[in-house]
Amino acid sequence: MDLARADAPQSPNLRPARLWRPRRVLVTPAALEHAHGRAMVARAEALGLPVERLRANRLTGLGGGDPRRAYAEAKATLALVAAPPTKLRLQPIPPSADWRFDLAEGCPAHCQYCYLAGSLSGPPVTRVYANLDAILGALADYAGRGAVTSTTEARAGEGTTFEASCYTDPLGIEHLTGSLSAAIRHFGAWDAPVQLRFTTKFAAVAPLLGLDHGRRTRIRISVNAQGAARYEGGTDPLEARLAALGAVARAGYPVGLTIAPILPLPGWRDAYAGLIREAARTLDGVPDLDLTAELITHRFTPGSKTVLQGWYPGSDLPLDESARTRKLTKFGSVKYVLPKDLMAEMREALTGMLARDLPAARILYWT
Ligand code: SF4
Repeated sequence: MDLARADAPQSPNLRPARLWRPRRVLVTPAALEHAHGRAMVARAEALGLPVERLRANRLTGLGGGDPRRAYAEAKATLALVAAPPTKLRLQPIPPSADWRFDLAEGCPAHCQYCYLAGSLSGPPVTRVYANLDAILGALADYAGRGAVTSTTEARAGEGTTFEASCYTDPLGIEHLTGSLSAAIRHFGAWDAPVQLRFTTKFAAVAPLLGLDHGRRTRIRISVNAQGAARYEGGTDPLEARLAALGAVARAGYPVGLTIAPILPLPGWRDAYAGLIREAARTLDGVPDLDLTAELITHRFTPGSKTVLQGWYPGSDLPLDESARTRKLTKFGSVKYVLPKDLMAEMREALTGMLARDLPAARILYWT
């Protein structure tokens, strides 16, 4: 992946973030019908990226041939497309939020445990949606509805929640899209009990700091123990992500830690304790801190394992079924999770560390 240094940081705590430079930018005719699509083309051209205007709306010729090469080419490609109408009908996304909506699908990073491997099909091109007005306009119908935060006592204070990072990392592509800033402004101006949520393994938050967010966007930073860094190619370093967390908290955003995927790596107890202490140091003294924590253990499915082993054949990520507990999802498919005793031990340890070193963090769920 081609990465370049970002512009000067706007916070003394914020280290320069690496910004993705796709090798190809494909634009469909449908994307060009939308002002946001045309604005993204202008951004890409201003960055000196090669923009290819397609004659048809289908993306073709991206798969086939050598799978490693197809993977590398797809991960280096940004496609500007119009989201199909089905994308405007939202799905529930427990335990994170009432609803999921998508600004894009795909991510340029190379995490060896990427959850997208099990949910997206085809070559992992990053597709960004140009019909942003329609996507944001569709959200209002869902306000006040939903079964995760809207109607539960424990999380009612969050309002109706809309999760924007199920199928992408919206901050990792924000310099090319501007979609996330638009969504934050949309929620900032939406005077109702609603909340935009996203999580990210990137750190380029400078463009978000001055937005009128109205405290209706919760920015969660996805973090893991230091030893997991080798599985997170193409993301920003943990230190930069934590600095970004401090910066957005000081800019008044509700914030969160997504600790994921929790792995029983050697020395995990000390490693997660160190992570939580570092987060506490970063957030020390933030006025009106509104902080949550989401704790997500590592799991895989037969499908995601096959995809990930195809993408990262040399990975030493533990994907051994015999060391896991086999469970059925509510849709009847198989997943492999940490064994029950280890799960309980890690849960007790991590929640204890949070209670001790970061008591401001409200734990939303352990899964
Ligand atoms: S940053 Fe998130 S979405 Fe992107 S590759 Fe890593 S796990 Fe997947």
